[in-house]
Amino acid sequence: MTKFSKYVGRFAPSPTGDLHFGSLVTAVASYLRARSQNGKWLLRIEDIDQKRNQKGSTYSILKTLELHGLEWDDEVIYQSKRTEIYRFYLNQLVEKKLIYKCSCSRKNLINYYKNLQTMEYVYPGICRNKEIENNVFSCRIKALNTFNINFTDNIQGSIEQNLEKEVGDFILWRNENIASYQLAVVVDDELQGITEIVRGCDLLFQTSRQIYLQKCLNFTTPNYAHIPILLNKENQKLSKQTKAEPLKNINSKENICKILNYIGYDKSVINNLYINSKNSNDLINNSVSYFNLKKINKVISVQFE
Ligand SMILES: [Zn+2]
Repeated sequence: MTKFSKYVGRFAPSPTGDLHFGSLVTAVASYLRARSQNGKWLLRIEDIDQKRNQKGSTYSILKTLELHGLEWDDEVIYQSKRTEIYRFYLNQLVEKKLIYKCSCSRKNLINYYKNLQTMEYVYPGICRNKEIENNVFSCRIKALNTFNINFTDNIQGSIEQNLEKEVGDFILWRNENIASYQLAVVVDDELQGITEIVRGCDLLFQTSRQIYLQKCLNFTTPNYAHIPILLNKENQKLSKQTKAEPLKNINSKENICKILNYIGYDKSVINNLYINSKNSNDLINNSVSYFNLKKINKVISVQFE
C-alpha cells in the first residue's frame, strides 16, 4: 500500500460539459503537485447548480481523467448531495450574527450599479438592516472590514484585498435554496482536509472571500497556488462558454506533453518522457519527479496555441 504524506490536493470540476484543455491543465498540475509531495489527490464534482449540469458530463469527465492516467484517491464527492452539511455551517454563521437575508434581484442590482456608473460591483448592503418578508431571498455574509485579507500564493506571490471596499457582503445561500459556490467550496476543502489548492487564476480574486469564511468558521486556511489560465485567439478564457473544444482522448499522450510545456517542463525532458513512456499512465507518473512549482509562469494568463 502507498504511504501518503500529509499533503492533500484536489481537483473540483463542474459537470457542465466535457472537459476541455484548460481544465485538463489544472487537473494535471494539481495531480503532479500532489504526487510530487507524496500526497493524495482527491476529486470533487461541483454539481450544486443542477440547472447548469449536463447529463452525462460527470461520466465523461471521469473517463477523460482516467484516459490521461490521472487516478484519484478515496471516493469522489458530489456537492449536490451535501446541502444539509452546508446548511449546518451556514447556521453557525447565523448564530454569530454574520448573516442577513437579501431580496435584491439581479436586475435591481444591475440598475443600481448602472446609476452609480461604476464598473466595480460592490454590494452596497441594501438589505443589511431591512426586515425581509419575502419568501424568496438569498443570504449574505457581512464583509466586515476588520482586516485586509492577504495571503502568499505559491505561484502568484503576495495578494491583498479589502473585502468591504472591493467586494461587499457576498452571497452564501442562493434564493434557489442551495449553498453558494463560496460556502460549498470552503466547507468541502476543510472537511476533505485539503492542504493546498492548485487551480486557475480565474479564481485568484475569489480566494480572499474564502479565507474570510475560513476565519469566520474557525477552519484552517490551506495553501494556494494559482496557475495561469489559457486564453483563446480572442483573448477569452478557454471555457465551455467560449466554446473551447472538448478533448480528444485518443491523443492523451500528446495532450499531456502539451500541458507539461505550459507548466514549465524543459523541452528535452518532455521528449524523453514521451519516448520512454508506453502510455499516458506511464507518462504522467514518470513526469512526477520533474515537477517544479517554481517553473510555472508567474502570470495571470497565457495564450493557448
Ligand atoms: Zn438585498
